[in-house]
Amino acid sequence: MEQNNNLQEKWLAKIKNIITAYTRNRAPDPFMIWFRQKDSEEFFADDFERVLAILIDARFDQRTTAEKALKNTITVVNQEALKRLIPREQITLLIPRQGMTAEKWTDLFYSSLSRLHKLARKIVARKEWDAAELLDSMLHDFKVPYLGVKTSRLAVRWLHELVPNLKIDMTTYKIPVDSLVYRLACRIGIIDPSIDKYHGEDSPADLKIQSFAKQVFPDKPYLLDEPLWSTGRQAIRGGHCFPKNPDCNGCLFQSICRKRSLDIDPAKLGIDTEYMPRRVKHVPNSKHRAIRQDQARFAEFVEELKQKGIRGKEYREKTMQWVREHRDK
Ligand code: SF4
Repeated sequence: MEQNNNLQEKWLAKIKNIITAYTRNRAPDPFMIWFRQKDSEEFFADDFERVLAILIDARFDQRTTAEKALKNTITVVNQEALKRLIPREQITLLIPRQGMTAEKWTDLFYSSLSRLHKLARKIVARKEWDAAELLDSMLHDFKVPYLGVKTSRLAVRWLHELVPNLKIDMTTYKIPVDSLVYRLACRIGIIDPSIDKYHGEDSPADLKIQSFAKQVFPDKPYLLDEPLWSTGRQAIRGGHCFPKNPDCNGCLFQSICRKRSLDIDPAKLGIDTEYMPRRVKHVPNSKHRAIRQDQARFAEFVEELKQKGIRGKEYREKTMQWVREHRDK
């Protein structure tokens, strides 16, 4: 019994070391680099502006890359989105997220901005928060369109790390369980898919994963999240632990993994799909393909303008002209 306990403790210590090294060596998030740089230049007038910049970027950071989200954030911040509700016609077209046009994505940002301002005001009105309570308030009291569960959790982490005046108790932070996190938790040996079923918050698998995260990192349970989901991604995105036949060679967890359920997808066995975000397989038709090509061309055009140093009014005019011309076509 004692020997088992010792082995378990050694195993936990190894996982902790792996995740600590991963966190230390990972490429810093482009938004955090930009934010810290701006903060050191005293760009933000107060905590309200700091919080609002974080909320804006977290909202953009979905179904797109962190770099594109940051470009949009910089665009609207340069147009004084931290200081006022910008009229729609003054907002430069934004780089759209997947499956949306630039115009639509810009319209949606415009209609979300007043809620983002209100949410930022509510957050800075208190100096102390509990992570779970803050998340709940973001998701249920304010319901900013396109600031969903994942992006809100990202915002809570950034608020915790980037706004020192806000004291957020992260011990109540829950890592989001999706099929990637569930699969990794099974393969590594944190849960057993035949016993620990997932059917939403506080289901057996959820409780075990959250308590494991707290056992390894009592003050920072969120550190467990990214190493798990990023290892579960497709090979093209640097993942290793696929639904079937994972590629264990070079995997972050290779030295400690118990390699369970390698020939089946554990998520299919243990997750009640009713509780997972629905991922409808999207087969693009010709209209969708045209939108995507347009988005890619627009992003290239924006990049070109930036490379040439074109900014301000000229930038706005050129992007509007681009849209007019392409809409006509
Ligand atoms: S070692 Fe293999 S089974 Fe374990 S997490 Fe990595 S890829 Fe998955």
